[in-house]
Amino acid sequence: APVVGVLALQGDVREHERVLHALGAEVVRVRRAAEAREIDGLVIPGGESSVIDKLSRAFGVRDAIVERIREGMPAYGTCAGMIMLADRIADGIDGQQSFGGLDITVRRNAFGPQSESFEADLDVPRLGDPPIHAAFIRAPVVADLGAGVDVLAALPDGRIVAVEQGALLATAFHPEVTGETRFHERFLDRVRAA
Ligand code: GLN
Repeated sequence: APVVGVLALQGDVREHERVLHALGAEVVRVRRAAEAREIDGLVIPGGESSVIDKLSRAFGVRDAIVERIREGMPAYGTCAGMIMLADRIADGIDGQQSFGGLDITVRRNAFGPQSESFEADLDVPRLGDPPIHAAFIRAPVVADLGAGVDVLAALPDGRIVAVEQGALLATAFHPEVTGETRFHERFLDRVRAA
């Protein structure tokens, strides 16, 4: 059976592990390059992207992840994880780098201090009914995207909050905290197909 990694440097690692276990996946935590080389897919949790970036370099796991993503390994990033999968960060701090892979530009903390956290129901035609109940926690938005990127979900005002490109999937919100499993299922389908 395929083995799914959850990047476990910082962020809501356990929430993702819980969803993946509930879906029957074999799950390992990834902190080291050797671990990144042995997995069939990677989930990058929400948290703080600048910290995940720094720790990924401190742990020496960054280059292995970048390489696996380039080779086509499926990955799913939520919130900070979306930022880590973006090719471009509009407003990174301190020379912040991402792993890249998705031809998008993200803007961090895009919803401003008053509404840093909110929930919304989103229609995601590709995931069918019912709508997604999405939790946004100091969430980014996709400010720009290349022609190869598919938009999976946008807010009513048009801001793009879920995208897919090849084997890579990213949401600005956190399905892992609202009991929503369809994005993880979609990711696991990619992993099994790879
Ligand atoms: N604001 C965080 C960042 O820029 C993301 C928040 C989250 O993952 N919930 O990394």
